[in-house]
Amino acid sequence: MSKPFSDHDKRKQISVRGLAGVENVAELKVAFNRHLHFTLVKDRNVANKRDYYFALANTVRDHLVGRWIRTQQYYYEKDPKRVYYISLEFYMGRTLQNTMVNLALENACDEAIYQLGLDMEELEDMEEDAGLGNGGLGRLAACFLDSMASLGLAAYGYGIRYEFGIFNQKIVNGWQVEEADDWLRYGNPWEKARPEYMRAVKFYGRTEHTPDGVKWVDTQVVLALPYDTPIPGYRNNIVNTMRLWSAKAPCDFNLKDFNVGGYIQAVLDRNLCENISRVLYPNDNFFEGKELRLKQEYFVVAATLQDVVRRFKASKFGSRENNNVLDVFHIQVAIQLNDTHPAMAIPELMRVLVDEEKLGWDKAWDVCVRTCAYTNHTVLPEALERWPIDLFHHLLPRHLEIIFEINHRFMEYVASKFPGDHDRMRRMSLIEEGGCKKVNMAHLCIVGSHAVNGVARIHSEILIATLYVSYTNTNTLKSSYFNGTNATHTHYDNIGDGTTLALTHSLTHSLTHSLTIYPSVSLSGIKKEPNKHWTPRTIMVGGKVCLVPLSLHSHQRVVTGSTYRTIPLIHNSLLLCNALSPLLFSQAAPGYHTAKMIIRLITAIGEVVNHDPVVGDRLKVIFLENYRVTLAEKAIPSADLSEQISTAGTEASGTGNMKFMLNGALTIGTMDGANVEMAEEAGEENLFIFGMRVEDVDAMDAGKGYHASEYYNRIPELKQAMDQIAGGFFSPKQPDLFKELVDLLMHHDRFKVFADYEAYIKCQDKVNQLYKNPKEWTKMVIHNIAGCGKFSSDRTIAQYAREIWGMEPSLEKIPAPDEKLK
Ligand SMILES: *Cc1c(COP(=O)(O)O)cnc(C)c1O
Repeated sequence: MSKPFSDHDKRKQISVRGLAGVENVAELKVAFNRHLHFTLVKDRNVANKRDYYFALANTVRDHLVGRWIRTQQYYYEKDPKRVYYISLEFYMGRTLQNTMVNLALENACDEAIYQLGLDMEELEDMEEDAGLGNGGLGRLAACFLDSMASLGLAAYGYGIRYEFGIFNQKIVNGWQVEEADDWLRYGNPWEKARPEYMRAVKFYGRTEHTPDGVKWVDTQVVLALPYDTPIPGYRNNIVNTMRLWSAKAPCDFNLKDFNVGGYIQAVLDRNLCENISRVLYPNDNFFEGKELRLKQEYFVVAATLQDVVRRFKASKFGSRENNNVLDVFHIQVAIQLNDTHPAMAIPELMRVLVDEEKLGWDKAWDVCVRTCAYTNHTVLPEALERWPIDLFHHLLPRHLEIIFEINHRFMEYVASKFPGDHDRMRRMSLIEEGGCKKVNMAHLCIVGSHAVNGVARIHSEILIATLYVSYTNTNTLKSSYFNGTNATHTHYDNIGDGTTLALTHSLTHSLTHSLTIYPSVSLSGIKKEPNKHWTPRTIMVGGKVCLVPLSLHSHQRVVTGSTYRTIPLIHNSLLLCNALSPLLFSQAAPGYHTAKMIIRLITAIGEVVNHDPVVGDRLKVIFLENYRVTLAEKAIPSADLSEQISTAGTEASGTGNMKFMLNGALTIGTMDGANVEMAEEAGEENLFIFGMRVEDVDAMDAGKGYHASEYYNRIPELKQAMDQIAGGFFSPKQPDLFKELVDLLMHHDRFKVFADYEAYIKCQDKVNQLYKNPKEWTKMVIHNIAGCGKFSSDRTIAQYAREIWGMEPSLEKIPAPDEKLK
């Protein structure tokens, strides 16, 4: 199918963002050619698409630089409170388009690239994703950076510059195969290395208790080399900084003990310590407990706190106070911990305050607690970080002492409030006893922070009722418990006819974007045939993706779902021959056998169904390979139905659910995570809600328990599906292949999949009925889009700012640097 218009024509058709401006276009062209010549060292005879992408990226970057420097000067002059968002993951995706949009350069760049005879979309496609995250947690951090800049907060993102981000997923013979994500191979035009701000991070060694205080000696040093990435706000001339640390061996690394022949080996060994920033651990919601990961967690925190303290001391506020300047640190500094991954910030801040700045313990602790705040992302036990004491003792001996001291004082406090309540003390301790003693990092965060928040209302309620019940009941803490429902980044724009809609989404270049391109196309028109207008490529992006040809089926539908409950989902589609074909995506942690088997099952079912002559083109089972930010941007807007079917109480929030809502898909889901609030905002009648509520799950656990066999024996379709899967119907060459998966579902299923099966099937019937009535369907979609405002990360960040950080968000612009281009 050929595109009705070139992309350029589409973008030109309507200009809600102002005319491109002949002058701007001419200047952009000059700058582009200058970069091609001087930066890329190419001419148009030999330049390739990647060169053109780099020339464009550098041209756009030029427009960031003045604003970036200005913003930092402005912060120095105004000296506002700073917030540091520390995260082991920043899942940024691509930068070029978002930067052009935020600087209002999109139209002028489009026109310039067109006049140069190049294709903007092709150039955009040359950009590597910055895949420094696993999923929701990392993407949230990226959305938050966007919103903090857009709301004028003096904010910094701090993390690790992984040389390899989340692996590239290939499907080979139906199986997931991982490939290293060598995203920096061609260079990264957005980052700026700052070797002059290198920091030393210490590991290992031992402590010496002297009259002068505690000394941490005989350590090994790793250098942390910062790379800065600009984070532009939305058309407010603010450009904040994300600083990512890369590990670098010191020049004298291992040279102390070199002898004849040792020199070469010592230089070769430098790699070992530089491994710290080599690769992102591909575990989402799963604690693996590897030493290298603990090194990463401490590395980012130790380097970051040196920066934070230096910047504080250099600030007007910090340099005004003469003695004990760090007493007032918390007035000027807020630190937000994205999950427990950067929890070491708490003992490290204590070490800096007590050992280096010579504050008394009590004062230091007060400052520390007032500075730090912690966001919890899950209650699943397999995700909770619990580090063995032995490992700590070896790697970070001083920090272990500090954690023991924090715990000792905390336990004394608890004992004074609840004399003799040893069980309570055991529950609340930072140190878990038993075979191998461990540090419970969530407890460390709760005790060491002034605010703890969950990521959706229901999640925060569960947190308070379960994990933290001891803390809240005892009221032993200053900590406030706060809910900051997650969200995703959006902009609100005027779409031309005076109607304001939730508009482009920095993540999903979305439905509403196409509304700006096709003002004459109705909402239902876009959703009915999204591909015809703008996404014929999208579903193909993953490579070997099977697709019902659009030209044959104007009712091409896709459904997305998560892995947990994939099996009944697919089975249901088979049974009902739904109007909607399931599009499934997931990434299995390389070591997570069950997740890999589920992916194999999806592809196996696809192999059977997609070649079945009876089913034909009415239904396809599609596994979307290599799901990542750029693919989400394309796949999500093409969906009509979003499957958010976690067992109630297991998904903390979800943010995918919101992206679908904003992009005009309806939701079939359980009352879990943010689905609850989506139903509240859009009206429950505008979602397809089914299944057990948290109370039902709790009642089941407290009562007769969950027994998969009951459902299996009672529901013939379920039994048939399981028997087919276990019996090799989908794996004729290897009949036993999926037996273990079915055994798991039958005997060890913590997620109680079968318990919601009937409710789910019934609800899918409703979906199918309603889908036959496009008018009603579209009405529901409109209610959803109209109700999605709460799920803008601007709202979440405004709430964090006011309720946790004590900062006031602002929509004001700061003055633009003097540029001819505006
Ligand atoms: C939003 C997003 C996620 C999180 O999705 P959930 O459905 O909330 O788990 C994961 N990966 C990518 C690429 C995303 O954009």
